[in-house]
Amino acid sequence: MLVKKGVLALAALMAGAVAPAMAWAADEVVVYSARNEQLIKPMFDAYTKETGIEIKFVTDKEGPLMQRLKAEGANTPADVFLTVDAGNLWQAGNEGLLAATPSKVLEQNIPAYLRDPGNQWFGLSVRARTIAYNPTMVKASEMSTYEDLADPKWKGKLCLRTSKKVYNQSLVAMMIEEHGAAKTEEIVKGWVANQATEPFSSDTKMMEAVAAGQCALGIGNTYYYGRLVAANPDISLKLFWPNQEGTGVHVNISGAGVVKHAGNKAGAQKLIEWLSSDKAQNLFSDSNHEYPANANIKPSELVASWGTFKQNQINVVRAGELQVEAVKLMDRAGYK
Ligand code: FE
Repeated sequence: MLVKKGVLALAALMAGAVAPAMAWAADEVVVYSARNEQLIKPMFDAYTKETGIEIKFVTDKEGPLMQRLKAEGANTPADVFLTVDAGNLWQAGNEGLLAATPSKVLEQNIPAYLRDPGNQWFGLSVRARTIAYNPTMVKASEMSTYEDLADPKWKGKLCLRTSKKVYNQSLVAMMIEEHGAAKTEEIVKGWVANQATEPFSSDTKMMEAVAAGQCALGIGNTYYYGRLVAANPDISLKLFWPNQEGTGVHVNISGAGVVKHAGNKAGAQKLIEWLSSDKAQNLFSDSNHEYPANANIKPSELVASWGTFKQNQINVVRAGELQVEAVKLMDRAGYK
């Protein structure tokens, strides 16, 4: 009786207009994205055009998306989680929201330091967190390292973004990895003492303050600089690449992982692999003035015009693993 009912129900479905929709649904990939529609839609459209596979996406901030993945559990419609910062990706993996997805393609396309050693997430674009300075106030020859920004010679000249932002937590976490907590705390205290004013709510506001001369220099992500110079090529703002004699510039990623309870794991993996490919890497990085994660691909003309630099190649997973320690350290150091 039960079997008969099931067959009848299936027959009814197949006879109706629902059947093609089911076939389509089996193929489609659902993405939860903390990156906004304007950045991701052109890539997804290109993927659909090439493969015929439809992509559905939901955009929100990473916090609510992770909450949603947790609440939905095994019933989640999501296949892929896409966000910025290794700190956030690590957190998603640490909370059991992602599935380890070993992939020869991703191993080949993405350098090891830009992906999770446990294969739960993969960097797809790179952003450098570097020094932005006002060339009317500072000469390039006066700058050297992140650590040097703690020197009293920069008193009243440094602008910082709030320590609440994951970007600064990741930067400080990577400094703890390199120097240990005690030395890092001294450096961060030096930064705090050198601030021209209270921390800013965004990299953009911080960089605008540098360009306006409120401070001489600050620490920010390269793509925010890209947006400012693209809008105003004459802005009084330049980038400096610190720590070139040492471990290199702090870099971070935007990236993605396959959702633990994805209904379409194979489709999710295929999409992430495609995003790492030669074809997709410029689409992914150029739209936000970022660097391709795939080392075979060159950045856009504007991004390339800022020059080349040595990247810190310690695995960005450490930014996640040391995040809690970094937050506590910044609090102790009085970094608001
Ligand atoms: Fe950002």
